[in-house]
Amino acid sequence: MDKCIFCEIASHNIPADIISENDEVMAFADINPATKGHILVIPKTHSTNLFDIEETLLSKVICLAKRIAKIMPEVLGCSGVNLFHSAGKIAWQEVMHFHLHIVPRYSRDELRRPFVSTSTNKDELKEIAFSLAKRLSQNNINH
Ligand code: AMP
Ligand code: ZN
Repeated sequence: MDKCIFCEIASHNIPADIISENDEVMAFADINPATKGHILVIPKTHSTNLFDIEETLLSKVICLAKRIAKIMPEVLGCSGVNLFHSAGKIAWQEVMHFHLHIVPRYSRDELRRPFVSTSTNKDELKEIAFSLAKRLSQNNINH
């Protein structure tokens, strides 16, 4: 089986432009930035995506992302950021090791929303919210 590229970066077996790391999480520059300063935040131990990452570890990833995002306006001159995560190939995930994208946004960048809203059926919205709420309230589904 091929080695996981982000596990290799986490172990320092392949190089990356690392901006922060501790025993559990790491942040480094995306090799193919969507905008200037595009950063990826990963857990060092392998999880595939949002579906399997352990919650305490996920909170550490998000907290590091927040700390980085907060300094971006001052350091990079951006005016906002997008946080982005793809879970599953159907959702455009290409690297199958959990990563959170931090994409700095600039007034004249070229990024566009990848989706537009679909038409709304109020009954369907209610039904979906009900099904999700019901399932979420059942035992063992929160972890
Ligand atoms: P995703 O489509 O969400 O799986 O995004 C994967 C991201 O990883 C892309 O933005 C790639 O540019 C980035 N990437 C792939 N290989 C490397 C690498 N060796 N170092 C830094 N970023 C990488
Ligand atoms: Zn991995």
